[in-house]
Amino acid sequence: MWIADKYIDYVKEQTINNPGQSWGKMLLGFKANKLRMKLLPNKKLSRGYQKLEEMMMSFVADALGRPDSYVWGNIFSPCEIVQCFGRSTLSIECLACYLSGYHLEDYFIDYAQNLGIAPTLCSYHKTFVGAIDSDAVSVPGYAVTTSLSCDGNLNTFRYLEKKKGVPFSFLDVPYGDDEDSVDYLAGQLKDFAGALEQHFGIPFEEERLKENLRIENETRKELMHFFRLQSERYYPGELISHLYLMMGMHLLIGTPEFLDLVRFMVEDIKTYPPFEGKKILWVHLLPFYQETLQRYLNENPEYQIIASDMAMDSVEELDERRPFHALARKLIHNLYNGSYDHKAQMVSRLADELSPDAVIQFCHWGCKQSSGGSLILKEAFQKKGIPMLILDGDGIDRRNSHDGQIKTRLEAFLEMLDEGTQNRRLDRTC
Ligand code: SF4
Repeated sequence: MWIADKYIDYVKEQTINNPGQSWGKMLLGFKANKLRMKLLPNKKLSRGYQKLEEMMMSFVADALGRPDSYVWGNIFSPCEIVQCFGRSTLSIECLACYLSGYHLEDYFIDYAQNLGIAPTLCSYHKTFVGAIDSDAVSVPGYAVTTSLSCDGNLNTFRYLEKKKGVPFSFLDVPYGDDEDSVDYLAGQLKDFAGALEQHFGIPFEEERLKENLRIENETRKELMHFFRLQSERYYPGELISHLYLMMGMHLLIGTPEFLDLVRFMVEDIKTYPPFEGKKILWVHLLPFYQETLQRYLNENPEYQIIASDMAMDSVEELDERRPFHALARKLIHNLYNGSYDHKAQMVSRLADELSPDAVIQFCHWGCKQSSGGSLILKEAFQKKGIPMLILDGDGIDRRNSHDGQIKTRLEAFLEMLDEGTQNRRLDRTC
């Protein structure tokens, strides 16, 4: 890994010295990483997570190599519609994570802030804005964002349109769960398909969208099956594996390739040994870089993340006969739309399905989806007798995550979980 580390340092230095000239070097790194994952997969990971890692790296490296092959989106953008035009959706949150692979997030965040972007804007957005504003990253021809979960989206996409001339569609996702709201959003989704039709000069085929939704329904069922199996079998993964899974469920859902991968994982996990450690349900973002969390949760037979709420933030079956209405319902019913009670109910239902031993919620700095209602969630789990840990930090900006604090809280929590098991064992032997 010495060469990879040297290359990361080299790209970082080059970008800081001359951001406008660094895109080719970054892209080369992504492509080399894709090849490395194919030829030299991380053997510590289970086979399914190796394949997932390779798929997500290929997805991003291939798309970025051809700016006309993708649109920018936020994580909740309807990739199923974009796929109908043979294009991918690259979410700006995920791109920010990939850029942080070069340890450039602090440089881009500072760059954006020095240009007047508010320090309170989410660090995923600031990383992305800094990368674009500094000309370090190339831009595609179109973008789409939803209002779901975050007010920051509209401002960021408006800013990028103004600064870089990237037009975008805005999908206003209502809070209300009624037929008028569904009709309102379905109309916007249809208009979005029309805008892409015009932009790419390719006719929209509703049959293709219906097929994507059929695949999506199947994928979601298979993933739920996989999560159940993952609560019974030890399937070595890393924090970043769960981030990749979440990305796949938002950016590749509806593609046969992703369905095949999840099916492979379902079969493959059955060949792994039983899991006898503590089962963790993860809530919200995954700070994939955080050392202490990596130490305890990467490939550890004692503590395994069995699922994350963001990979299963939509659960209902999509009615492909009315695809725009189905996608509208999917967005409106998303775990991250509406009140925090709604979120608490959906996470609780996931817990009922998977029976975790504990829940960990990561509160991303400044995100109202995190800290805002975490106590409501904690109360819901208290009633179920499932301990929950709330950790504060930043999903991408390492400077806002304090390892000492995370370590102290995590270790105390895991100790408490282990003691609980020992006490139960003693009770049984007495
Ligand atoms: S992490 Fe929170 S603040 Fe950041 S984009 Fe997502 S919802 Fe918005």
